[in-house]
Amino acid sequence: MRYLDSHAHILSEEFRDDFDAVLQRAEEAGVERMVIITTQPDEARRAMALAAADPRRFQAAYGIHPEDIRTVTEDSLKEMAEIAADPRLSFVGEIGLDYHWEKEMAAAQKELFIRQIEIARQVGKPVMVHSRDAHQDTFDILKEHHVPGVLHCFSGSAELAREYVKLGYYIALGGAVTFKNARHAKEVCAAIDPAYLLSETDCPYMSPEPVRGTRNEPANIPHIVRVMAQVRQVSEEAMAEQVWQNGQRFLGVTE
Ligand SMILES: [Zn+2]
Repeated sequence: MRYLDSHAHILSEEFRDDFDAVLQRAEEAGVERMVIITTQPDEARRAMALAAADPRRFQAAYGIHPEDIRTVTEDSLKEMAEIAADPRLSFVGEIGLDYHWEKEMAAAQKELFIRQIEIARQVGKPVMVHSRDAHQDTFDILKEHHVPGVLHCFSGSAELAREYVKLGYYIALGGAVTFKNARHAKEVCAAIDPAYLLSETDCPYMSPEPVRGTRNEPANIPHIVRVMAQVRQVSEEAMAEQVWQNGQRFLGVTE
């Protein structure tokens, strides 16, 4: 079986000491493709270098995260737009809205989100969207300023997921789908057209069962796809292949 990790922060601090071993374990687990999500310009440049060196294995994404709303400047947006235009970058993100951490900055977050969507449109790249406790505002913005993309670590309702799929958005599920109390993620997994499901770790965060509570890494993707298969009542092989093919379509790659 072959797997995709559509959202991995593998260049973050947490992987500095054993980066090669992490990649080795991913390979052994069959995780053949990873989208490296970055939140700082230097990190983005390292991800683009990796993607350029091994484009079958890595793709790079960069965007200004909503949690960084208090430090964003016109200069940082200008630099973001330059990186977005780099041909070695595949996605703009993660971008979006986070009302869990920065609710009082909602207006500024919305403005930053829309500006980065417009940059994505100009450079013709899909967006990787972060939305936390901001379901309606995120949906309204993506409906009005529509560009292709994926809702990462989706935690909204099955109804909302269906609305996104109608607009052509992919839905990425991670560790939460394996948690006993995560009703929403399982309902979403069961409810939407399976052609729009993607798998992700969001590592180093959000480890799935049975390794919940430890540092997450791309090699944990099979735990997530296994639960997706159970929820959809298909074989693990069929689920893995479906998600892999979705990933190929979404990532714009052909074999
Ligand atoms: Zn992330």
